[in-house]
Amino acid sequence: MNTLEEIIKREFLLLKSKHPTYGSSSWTVSPPYLKDDFRRQVHIGKRFGSRTRLTRSYPRFILECKLERLLEDNEDAHHINTQEYDDRVDNLEPKNKHIHRADHKILLPEKFICRICKVEFELSGIKLTKFKMRAKRKTYMGPYCSKSCAGKGNFF
Ligand SMILES: [Zn+2]
Ligand SMILES: [Zn+2]
Repeated sequence: MNTLEEIIKREFLLLKSKHPTYGSSSWTVSPPYLKDDFRRQVHIGKRFGSRTRLTRSYPRFILECKLERLLEDNEDAHHINTQEYDDRVDNLEPKNKHIHRADHKILLPEKFICRICKVEFELSGIKLTKFKMRAKRKTYMGPYCSKSCAGKGNFF
């Protein structure tokens, strides 16, 4: 059986040491895991002592392994077949961020102030799209920075 998940795990094991920054043996890179919006991430940390711990987009990470260079700040990892969960190496290519986002009509991140705790927070991608849909409802009182603030918001 060659499920997508198995192929991605195999590619990760084959390629992770080629990463220009985190491939070195002093870093640990834990296998890609799915977030609740079905995007994959990797956790990166220093093996000894230091508390350094980063979360990185998996498609970006694995594309950097394939190219053996870091993506520039103005580059995104584009999914060639447009399936955002299909992180197979051959399905990824670098693409200029502005062109890429316009192509996908991806909303640029926006900042909000939470109505409950007054903390500033940023929404992007699917979360921002969902927020914009919710905000159209007359009964919506947000934005809220978290589920816990949204819960409190319901009682005001
Ligand atoms: Zn894309
Ligand atoms: Zn809040």
